[in-house]
Amino acid sequence: MNKENKTAAVIKYFFPDAWRKTKGYFILSVVNLLIAAAIPFVDIYFLPLLVDSMTADVKDIRTICFYGGAMVFFDILLQVLNSTFSVQLEKYADFFLNDSSVEISRRCMELDFALTENKEALDQIKKAREGLNWSGGVHEIAKAFFGIISNGLRIFGAAAVLAVNAPLLLLLIAVLLTASTLINRKKNDIDIKNFTELSGINRIFGHICWEMEDFRYGKDIRLYGAAGMMIEKASQQINRLNDYWKRINDKKFPLNILDIIVTAARDFGTYLYLGFLAITGKITIGTFSQLLTAGGSLNTALQGMVFGFQDIVKRSSYAYEIVKFMEYPPYMEKGNRRIENPEGGHTIEFKNVSFTYPGTDVQVLKNTSITLRSGERLSVVGLNGAGKTTFIKLLCRLYDVTEGEILLDGVNIRDYDYEEYMKLFSVVFQDFRLLAFSVRDNVFLGNEEPDETADSLLEKVGLSEKIASLPNGKDTMMFKQFDKEGVELSGGEQQKLAIARALYKDAPVVILDEPTAALDPVAEYEIYKRFDELVGGKTAVYISHRLSSCKFCDKIAVFSEGTVKEYGTHDQLLRLKDGIYAEMFKAQAQYYI
Ligand code: ADP
Repeated sequence: MNKENKTAAVIKYFFPDAWRKTKGYFILSVVNLLIAAAIPFVDIYFLPLLVDSMTADVKDIRTICFYGGAMVFFDILLQVLNSTFSVQLEKYADFFLNDSSVEISRRCMELDFALTENKEALDQIKKAREGLNWSGGVHEIAKAFFGIISNGLRIFGAAAVLAVNAPLLLLLIAVLLTASTLINRKKNDIDIKNFTELSGINRIFGHICWEMEDFRYGKDIRLYGAAGMMIEKASQQINRLNDYWKRINDKKFPLNILDIIVTAARDFGTYLYLGFLAITGKITIGTFSQLLTAGGSLNTALQGMVFGFQDIVKRSSYAYEIVKFMEYPPYMEKGNRRIENPEGGHTIEFKNVSFTYPGTDVQVLKNTSITLRSGERLSVVGLNGAGKTTFIKLLCRLYDVTEGEILLDGVNIRDYDYEEYMKLFSVVFQDFRLLAFSVRDNVFLGNEEPDETADSLLEKVGLSEKIASLPNGKDTMMFKQFDKEGVELSGGEQQKLAIARALYKDAPVVILDEPTAALDPVAEYEIYKRFDELVGGKTAVYISHRLSSCKFCDKIAVFSEGTVKEYGTHDQLLRLKDGIYAEMFKAQAQYYI
């Protein structure tokens, strides 16, 4: 897409939304642009009257005072209004920046999950964030836009004055302005062309800083003494940045000098030409001063207009990255079929499902078929990397299958309304995350619920005592990001809280992905046992590379090499000669006897 189209796309994307959110901003901007446009015309209008009355043969002091007073009065009035309104408008800058930032975050949360593991989509998120900073957001783009209109009005007025009295001066200004435009265009091209390199350096630098600050890396960094290396890596990026800016400034230096020469030529030409007209008596001294002012104003406005255009094009090319991210094509097709009896029982069938992660060429699941019936307990076991979690991701439609199909009550899950399908599952993922909000918020996710509901859920997952012992009970913040009194729960406790959240969702299918690997087999067994009691009559899937979960399950599926190698009850699988399950059981039996 070319630069101008990007500008149009950016304006079309941001302005209507900004107008909806704050009309006052746009109204004030228009009033202010009219005021700004009018400022130079105070002098252009009053100056010749003042000068001519001062240089007249018969000088009337009252007339002189009147023109002088009026000029100063209107000058001050317009300047004061303009600067007051500009300050008011500046206040919106943060509002728009924050609003766009939240919109980007919102889009991140709504993005098809598969895209959150897609390099191109991840890069686009970063580019959008950088684009927001670099463009300065809606306010800076709007300021450039309204500035262009304001300058357009000034140009129109000043050119009209010059066209009547000094048409040649108009020509001179036009020629030199073209030169100045080309110079500035070159300067902007340098910035735009190098944006990718700069954003690449910034991205790496940002990531290193993030790793240094993120306490999840804290233990490893300390124990392996990685701080020195991290600082060194950051310094390398700072050096790259210094080199970058030196290179850019070197490239721009001759252009800056050329710009100064063009400006000097323009001023010189103007004085020469207007001086000639005045000396030869073609214009009065008053008109001389008027044309000088009009010429100056035209120059400033033309320059302002060109810079305004270049500025808006440059800012838009950055902001366009946000538009691109906001309109990032979805990964999945989404149907609109309603689920019959959403809270009731369902049969889910994997039929010859194969799956390859996007952007890779290894088939992680191969021709897998398995059926999960309503109310059934299925245990999915297998070694690490066998494809168990992938099976769950496909089941929850975080990814779409590459081949085969998944049917819910006989209908391909792609046909269903996506949000509704998602509601069928409560999942505690292996890498679940709690938010740095209160215990209550982590379970209810913003829904208003009575204390009794929270108490009963915490009781069920065995966290009552722990939470009651915290300084603010259920309102204690998790982690320390927002509150220095926030708590760090142990891995097992966090898992319990995640289970409380899953139970609260009360979905018909519950899934417990391999509990944290840090748990010992007995603790893991305890978690499954408790979970199984809580699940009641719902359909449940338990995943593990240990066999702790199998005891409670009607059916066991053994995943190996990307497919279901064995399927049946505990007893059936134990009887299989050379079976994987029997082998695993033998190896792990000591824990479960
Ligand atoms: P399990 O849960 O049985 O340990 P997974 O389903 O997590 O196994 O992984 C199965 C295989 O898929 C592994 O080889 C893993 O490296 C690969 N894999 C998992 N997630 C991704 C991903 N997002 N992109 C590419 N490959 C992946």
